[in-house]
Amino acid sequence: MFSNSTGRSGLPNVSVDGPAGAGKTTVARSFAQEVGFRHIDSGAMYRAVTLSALEDGRWDVTGSDDSILVFLARNLDVAFDSDPGGVQRVLLGGIDRTEDLRSEAVEEAVSLVASSAEVRTALMDRQRELAQNGGVVMDGRDIGSHVLIDAGLKVYLTAALPVRIARRLMQRRQNGTAITWENAASSVINRDRIDSTRAVAPLKPAPDAVLIDSTHLKRCDVVRQMKFMLRDRLNENRGG
Ligand code: C5P
Repeated sequence: MFSNSTGRSGLPNVSVDGPAGAGKTTVARSFAQEVGFRHIDSGAMYRAVTLSALEDGRWDVTGSDDSILVFLARNLDVAFDSDPGGVQRVLLGGIDRTEDLRSEAVEEAVSLVASSAEVRTALMDRQRELAQNGGVVMDGRDIGSHVLIDAGLKVYLTAALPVRIARRLMQRRQNGTAITWENAASSVINRDRIDSTRAVAPLKPAPDAVLIDSTHLKRCDVVRQMKFMLRDRLNENRGG
């Protein structure tokens, strides 16, 4: 059924989209490990462009000129690695910048960077290249709806707002950031607003995505559901 949706490896790609704090990256990572696929966190690429722009210093956050951002996105030297525990590390210019990508400054600016159409095009090309052989689980905002429209399984993962805020709060505190509930709430709400109202590839479920509400689900339950779905899709495919 998804003969067009498999890469050269013969394996389908899987997309996991959804709003901030829904648990996409953790779910996508666990799922990828369990099924032996490669995990790509597309949000890390937008964060990498943002970090580069903040460090470069020429980008005016309040202005409308995105030429520096576009240059940085087109020349982004980003690579994904994983530590011995299987946790993704993001290398920028060969240096591990994983923690810096989660800084408050990046968190605040990333959705602005991601609303540039040309930045999106540059990163989309990279994302498609990474998934061209199939067997990739990619999480983000527009993966099922724009980037990998042929993905064999598309999941839109969400959760109630207070749960997403609490998850974000916990994540930031685990990373050593002193953050209040109010700060975490406004960061999640702001990013969702910008991400879902931007002109290009706004956050919304692909028409053929399966919706999973993880408000009352543990990560392992979501992963289990996804494994069943993938198995069904593969069986459907084999059965023609
Ligand atoms: O997933 P994460 O929270 O790391 O994403 C950071 C930001 O990158 C999002 O808030 C969004 O603005 C942008 N993004 C995007 N499209 C993607 C992935 C992330 O616009 N596919």
